[in-house]
Amino acid sequence: MVTRILVLPGDGIGPEVMASALDVLDVVAMTEGLHLDITEDVLHGAAWNKYGTFCRPETITNAQQSDAVLVGAVGGPEWDHITIEGGPTEQDGLMKLRMELDVFAGLRPAKAWNCLISKTPYRPDLVQGADVMVMREMCGGSFLTTHRGIEDLTDGGQRAFDLNEYTSFEIERFARASFEVARLRKGKIVSVDKSNVVVAGALWREIVGRIGSDEYPDVKLQHYFADNAIYQLGLNPTAFDVIMADNLFGDLISDQAGIIAGSLGILPSACLPGIPKPGESIGPGIYEPVHGSAPDIAGQGIANPIGMILSVAMMLEFGIGHDQVAQKIHAAVALSFESGTLTPDLGGSATTKEVTDLVINNYRGL
Ligand code: NAD
Repeated sequence: MVTRILVLPGDGIGPEVMASALDVLDVVAMTEGLHLDITEDVLHGAAWNKYGTFCRPETITNAQQSDAVLVGAVGGPEWDHITIEGGPTEQDGLMKLRMELDVFAGLRPAKAWNCLISKTPYRPDLVQGADVMVMREMCGGSFLTTHRGIEDLTDGGQRAFDLNEYTSFEIERFARASFEVARLRKGKIVSVDKSNVVVAGALWREIVGRIGSDEYPDVKLQHYFADNAIYQLGLNPTAFDVIMADNLFGDLISDQAGIIAGSLGILPSACLPGIPKPGESIGPGIYEPVHGSAPDIAGQGIANPIGMILSVAMMLEFGIGHDQVAQKIHAAVALSFESGTLTPDLGGSATTKEVTDLVINNYRGL
């Protein structure tokens, strides 16, 4: 069986970490006998520079016909302030692609790697064993509302608004995906909202509670207000397993979770249209590191490639159904951390290529 993969390196460090991921994938495919049909295209800034649009219709069609989509990272100061006619998805190629593929379930795992604990700001006894899965809703809320704008006021000022809206359908399907993930892990979940002050949060809490008690009584559900959740995650990261949150809170919480891991640069993610059963696949999903295009270090060859490489592992697990191959990539990454070959974000001086070559050598040796 041939697996079709669309590769969108994106902007800034995106192409640098994508080159690493493709080198790893090449070796994985050869070693495991996988037949991959890989095509490459441009997205966001790179698409704007070439075609004058952030995401071409051809790119969406290609993505829809693929089994999985790999994205590096998008954005940068050159494009961040370009405003074109249309809703939010016209301004951001990656958000458009997520919407078109309806990949509403964002899976963002973050764990404390034993050999990196000294690189975190935590005391070892606080962070050892921390292993969380942040579930971020990817296709709704204030990031993607079409109820947005800036209007002039009679007092000479302006009013800007982005409606934080969620339908019951959007909350229900995301809640089910999150509970499914919780069932595959430790059977416990924290749902995050601001139901005390925001009505969209009140509907969120009501629906999550109902789905939990009616359909997932075996999963232990706790509701936290978002501000407290972020505080508690900082204080006591080992107390958490699955955390589910809307698009905005999920974005914030997953960066906070990066501190547990040691660097944002090593966090992978998967954006899926549902949760497959173990050993099965679902697609097409988008697999991308949590980090952005990091313009401050782009072009220097020092970006940490691990977030992108672990996103390939997530693609193998969820998009192709090869859990064991994904586990081998994790083992190869763990060995590279243990060797102390680290990029500057983790306090080392290794280059992107040195880390990538080491992961590949480790993989070959497993
Ligand atoms: P960022 O994630 O790009 O960078 C934040 C910090 O983390 C920077 O100091 C950066 O150097 C560091 N960092 C990030 N990834 C790293 C890696 N792999 N290795 C080493 N260090 C790494 O966030 P930002 O600076 O707020 O945003 C920069 C651009 O990226 C903006 O245009 C933003 O819109 C975009 N962005 C894109 C995505 C995405 O593509 N999914 C996500 C977030 C931000």
